[in-house]
Amino acid sequence: MKHNFGAGPGILPHEVLKQASEAVIDFNGTGLSLLEISHRSKEFEAVLDEAVKLVKELFNVPEGYSVLFLQGGASTQFAMAPYNLLPSTGKAAYLETGVWANKALKEAKYFGEVEIVATSKESNFTYIPKDYTIPADAAYFHITSNNTIYGTQLQELPTSSPIPVVCDMSSDIFSRKVNVADFGLIYAGAQKNMGPAGVTLVIVKDDILGKVDRKIPSMFNYQTQIEGGSMYNTPPCFAIYVSMLTLRWLKAKGGVEAIEQENITKARVLYEEIERNPFFKGVCAPEDRSHMNVCFVMENPEHEKAFLKLCDERGIVGVKGHRSVGGFRASIYNALPITSVYVLIDVMQEFAEKNK
Ligand code: PMP
Repeated sequence: MKHNFGAGPGILPHEVLKQASEAVIDFNGTGLSLLEISHRSKEFEAVLDEAVKLVKELFNVPEGYSVLFLQGGASTQFAMAPYNLLPSTGKAAYLETGVWANKALKEAKYFGEVEIVATSKESNFTYIPKDYTIPADAAYFHITSNNTIYGTQLQELPTSSPIPVVCDMSSDIFSRKVNVADFGLIYAGAQKNMGPAGVTLVIVKDDILGKVDRKIPSMFNYQTQIEGGSMYNTPPCFAIYVSMLTLRWLKAKGGVEAIEQENITKARVLYEEIERNPFFKGVCAPEDRSHMNVCFVMENPEHEKAFLKLCDERGIVGVKGHRSVGGFRASIYNALPITSVYVLIDVMQEFAEKNK
């Protein structure tokens, strides 16, 4: 077994993979593969219903919100959000905390004016800007809750925004408690904490829709997707099924509250080692460090190749840092057991011992 620290598509619980592989051959004793049944069959409708129910339950989604499973990844949401929410004469506010936030705001510019309320670009996104005001005249305020590439995370999410908050939660969805009522729209590509690539979760507050007067093609219109119950067209059945299994797994573990505590511990022990071990150092402002993507470099960059080799020998995969940060990035998503984090810590200590 490998210790999978990959940033995404990321690790999924082993039991989920096992159940998913069984469903590929024979889905629930139907004698058919999940891959070959109609999305309108009662069997698949039950899967989609359960997936929606689990999202509502695990995230305490209040009345007045719709839960959708769409295609096109979070990148399609970068465009779909302004398409539906930003009037052509209006403006949208964006917090620029990394490449994904930047890609999101670039898409918004196709639809209206964009105001960047704050950015940490000048420091290669090593911190989350905090000193800004949300403009009350913007159509919405867009944030990225966790910056997968840079290893920063908004430890505090906006609670009393005067305008709807739109949040890209691709890399920390279901990793911590969130008050959905504070948001107008939440979206997340599934492939980190929720399931395989190919499905995108959207949680949208119904009453923020219908306020732009442009015509929106059906597939890009949240309203069409709501009315179609995520089945306006053929949904990504298998990705939804595996996501549903992962949500079931999360519920059985005690839900978001329980996993949040585990995630806090995993992140704490790893950051403590980075701080303690003289061979390594962190790259982000300590108060903004992510509990999902732990970025670090070596005091002596010449050691990096050898450390990566030792990781490989010990079954640790996916820790090479993103090219725009360098060094290492250990993604410690929900499904990564703390035992894998301890293996990484052991290897860091072994490396330090061998090279002192
Ligand atoms: N937002 C964030 C925070 C991400 O980490 C990613 C993917 N790594 C994306 C958006 C893009 O997602 P997708 O590939 O699903 O379009």
